[in-house]
Amino acid sequence: MTPSANGRLRPVIAIDGPAGAGKSTLAAHLARRFGLLNLETGAMYRALALKALETSTELGDEAALARLAESTQIALESSPNESNRVLLDGKDVTTRIREKDVSEAASQVSVHPRVRAWMVERQRAMGAQGGVVMEGRDIGTKVFPDAELKIFLDAHDEIRGQRRYLQSAGSTNAPTAEAVLAAVRDRDTRDRNRATSPLEPAADAIHLDTTGLTLEQVYTLAEDLVQAKIPG
Ligand code: C5P
Repeated sequence: MTPSANGRLRPVIAIDGPAGAGKSTLAAHLARRFGLLNLETGAMYRALALKALETSTELGDEAALARLAESTQIALESSPNESNRVLLDGKDVTTRIREKDVSEAASQVSVHPRVRAWMVERQRAMGAQGGVVMEGRDIGTKVFPDAELKIFLDAHDEIRGQRRYLQSAGSTNAPTAEAVLAAVRDRDTRDRNRATSPLEPAADAIHLDTTGLTLEQVYTLAEDLVQAKIPG
């Protein structure tokens, strides 16, 4: 197989969109279906945010966060048939980084240009060979502007809030539906309005609004898009 103009033998599939749009579920499905690595970039912001919380690093202090990042190891372990694992300095933080305090802190650390530059450099290295589904907010616009396929996944905010609520409902200290919706909107506002790499679709992204769609319908639409980019 000959590499394409960007030197990759296999494609990069970028999935961007707001919180609760279903990016992780879709990325995991496509990774399994097409044998791709599933790299969830939000987990990297979450892991750094957790370290900031654990070390009492001020979330508004860009220089301190950039220094913290330089002394941090974040590993995303992805294999097509197993759930992803996230290691922070060698420790498994996969579950902990999903908690509310870390979600909020992640969206705060992610506004800083130096933090983003550190993340983007690593994300590019991780995806350089292709054969990946990379999911986040700025993959199609910033990390891989030359991605073979860019999907911008969206849904009405009430639907996204409800999906997030259903994910946590039943667990101890589960927040109310109203609180989850408010947190989703809050993160959206910060992600869309930050000065550096705000959440926005790339000009050549394909928009997929999942508001009125079942999961199966979303899978089918996305599979067709990926299939068209897989050689052979
Ligand atoms: O996708 P997830 O909800 O895990 O991301 C957590 C936070 O990390 C987001 O709210 C966003 O602020 C930040 N993020 C980002 N750019 C990415 C991925 C995530 O700014 N590529």
